[in-house]
Amino acid sequence: MTTTVPHSAQVLAEPRMLVDGRLVESGDDGVFPNINPATEETIGHTFDATADDIDRAIAAARRAFDETDWATDHAFRKHCLLQLQQALEKNKELLRSVLVAEVGAPVSTTHHMQLETPLGDDLLWPAQAIDTFPWERDLADNDFFGARSWRKVHKEPIGVVGAIVPWNFPLETTLNKLGTALATGNTVVLKPAALTPWNATHLGRLIAEETDIPAGVVNIVPTAGNERAQLIVDDPRVDMISFTGSTATGRHIQQRVAPMTKRLLLELGGKSAHIVLDDADFPQALASSAFQACLHGGQGCALQTRVLLPRSRHEEGLEIIETAFRAVAYGDPTDPVNIQGPQISAQQREKVEEYIRIGQEEGARLVLGGGRPAHLTRGYYVEPTLFADVTPGMRIAQEEIFGPVLTVLPYDDEEHAVRIANDSPYGLSGAVSSASPERALAVAWRIRTGTVSINGGVAHGADAPYGGYKASGIGRQSGLEGFEAHLETKTVAGL
Ligand code: NAD
Repeated sequence: MTTTVPHSAQVLAEPRMLVDGRLVESGDDGVFPNINPATEETIGHTFDATADDIDRAIAAARRAFDETDWATDHAFRKHCLLQLQQALEKNKELLRSVLVAEVGAPVSTTHHMQLETPLGDDLLWPAQAIDTFPWERDLADNDFFGARSWRKVHKEPIGVVGAIVPWNFPLETTLNKLGTALATGNTVVLKPAALTPWNATHLGRLIAEETDIPAGVVNIVPTAGNERAQLIVDDPRVDMISFTGSTATGRHIQQRVAPMTKRLLLELGGKSAHIVLDDADFPQALASSAFQACLHGGQGCALQTRVLLPRSRHEEGLEIIETAFRAVAYGDPTDPVNIQGPQISAQQREKVEEYIRIGQEEGARLVLGGGRPAHLTRGYYVEPTLFADVTPGMRIAQEEIFGPVLTVLPYDDEEHAVRIANDSPYGLSGAVSSASPERALAVAWRIRTGTVSINGGVAHGADAPYGGYKASGIGRQSGLEGFEAHLETKTVAGL
């Protein structure tokens, strides 16, 4: 396992954007800083796309879709995706260092969901699905006033996809979006998060230098300005927005695109509940509770940030959770033992601290943590924080904190547990633990979320539809459902 970040800041930096097949600087030479959240140091700068740069990127994506055979040449698309996959594999260690430096991602997470898991299948699965997906199917002939028609259903790409990405799992989200959008024959204008641009700009460099992906098929335009990012949302030449980020921004985008009836895929926030049933093996069920809340500083949309314990075994469960919290390894993201690094920014740390204050004011019991770790004098760190005696209506039980904060709620019986789990504006993910897999499954069917884990099972994968109910999103990314979400359906009939 890699123990340190071996690359210098100069090697890590890739300030250029990708527009129409070329790696370019911004039109007005403007830049914005990239800050390492573990050291608070500026590690370099990135060119800030101007309105003109974004306009050229959209025009290039439009032209590549309308005027080349990218949309129709399945074999060529597969070839390009496999080439990109190989280029990423070759540059894996560089990407790992970038993710640790700009995201503050613990290096341990890059061996899994930050880097290696998506490298393993986010491009490969859709590339392979090109061969197996039913692009066309025949319907039975149709009689209409005595005329007999043959009929076909045909699937084709939507067009130009505007892909907008957050900072918490940036390369994973980007590859996930790109793999499906490209495999289905769309062209892309990608806007990475301003806090984590280099994983995307390096991807742009690899696309330009190491693949046959035609000019304009992928454009990558980092910008520090959300009003400029919104140009992608507002532009009628962009047919679909694939957005991952906060529910507030997702709703804003939804309103912007409504007048254009633009296609929309929204992957938004979460507040996932883990129901521990009264027959569960508590040590086993709760061993990962601290990991689930603190992994990557709790900056994960699907992390289980509410644990629901039966009142009859509440203190026993809380003790196990507290022990697990005391064992959380956190700090320097380059140290492979750590699972929790810093929050992404000073602002994000303040937001987490504000929720910790709110929790105390609401009357929840602060069992552990709540402050800044004394031994970490640099970096945007928050201590692993555990709240007990949380009631379902409290803001810390309802709102997404996006920090290493776990809320523990007692419940009376199974019905009550399901009610609490579903008493949330969100519906992204959830978990159930029980000695009886059948009982757990019966509860899982009643949880109003897009994924559910039973006794620690992991649903994620490029083949698995992923997304949310309610305020957690619209549509599904990944899997066949994600593939379909990037396609239009045309029914053709002839005599
Ligand atoms: P955010 O909504 O602030 O920003 C997300 C992206 O949208 C950024 O690239 C940002 O620059 C861009 N953006 C903001 N305003 C815009 C506008 N008006 N027009 C166009 N683009 C705009 O979210 P964030 O703080 O970067 O990310 C954290 C959030 O993302 C959390 O709520 C988390 O749950 C969510 N998330 C969800 C998933 C999922 O799959 N459901 C995955 C990861 C993160």
